[in-house]
Amino acid sequence: MLTSIKGRSTIVTGASKGIGKGIAKIFAAQGAKVMVVARGEEAASATVEEIRSEGGTAEQCLCDVSDWDSVQAMVKTTVDTFGGVDILCANAGVFPQTKMIDMDPSEWDYVMSTNLKSTFLCVKACIPEFEKSKSGRVVLTSSITGPVTGYPGWTHYGASKSGQLGFLKTAAMELSRYNTTINAVMPGNIYTEGLQDLGQDYLDTMAASIPLKRLGQVEDIGNAALFFASQEAGYITGQQIIVDGGQILPESIEAMEDI
Ligand code: NAP
Repeated sequence: MLTSIKGRSTIVTGASKGIGKGIAKIFAAQGAKVMVVARGEEAASATVEEIRSEGGTAEQCLCDVSDWDSVQAMVKTTVDTFGGVDILCANAGVFPQTKMIDMDPSEWDYVMSTNLKSTFLCVKACIPEFEKSKSGRVVLTSSITGPVTGYPGWTHYGASKSGQLGFLKTAAMELSRYNTTINAVMPGNIYTEGLQDLGQDYLDTMAASIPLKRLGQVEDIGNAALFFASQEAGYITGQQIIVDGGQILPESIEAMEDI
């Protein structure tokens, strides 16, 4: 049993849907006060209502994580509402799929600023709070795509997710003076609302390529993030963990046929 995070002020970016919503719900279920951050109001407030209906504490903050003014306002709102920032889960991300030959350079910039620059902006904006409390936890949502695997259409996405891991190493050193850790979760294929439209056949094929024979659940990522945010993980920093049901392990299609 991990030491409780009850009452800890937690920012989760991209918490209105998908993995971020899973992280927000896992943290709220453990008693954390969760700031649900996204651009769209409808889904953010629905997430807040869902958390509250389950007995958790949550507020919403509309923010574009790629914009410095917006990120600073998001941290200020969190401090005004919850009294500080103990945990930052920098999770928001976008993944348009476009092969390089068709990709407008503006799409590259959009993905890099939403996924990578945002990581820097959100961490930077929280530093004064970590400095004040002489403690803090940062958990990034990276991916297996980029750092470990490739997928046509995701050059920008893969670069942004690898970039987060490069950022992580030096950030861990700089944040250590505030007794703050920073680590990353690298999800494989996780079942989110966005995948529902792809159809059961597609989902079954994806699941068949994973040794544990199922897509990940958002809670699988939430639980890994919760561990990094725990007191017990206080001596782990600058590290990354793959949460993918073994997806990256098979050397070939034949390797999967033999299990
Ligand atoms: P999702 O279901 O599309 O949700 C994305 C969330 O991010 C939404 O809440 C969205 O809300 C928010 N968001 C997007 N752009 C934003 C911006 N500029 N400012 C603030 N919020 C923003 O995505 P997901 O699948 O859960 O992915 C979440 C993270 O996990 C991403 O970093 C992704 O790279 C990573 N990941 C996902 C998978 C997977 O299988 N799903 C696998 C590996 C890694 P608004 O649009 O309203 O702003």
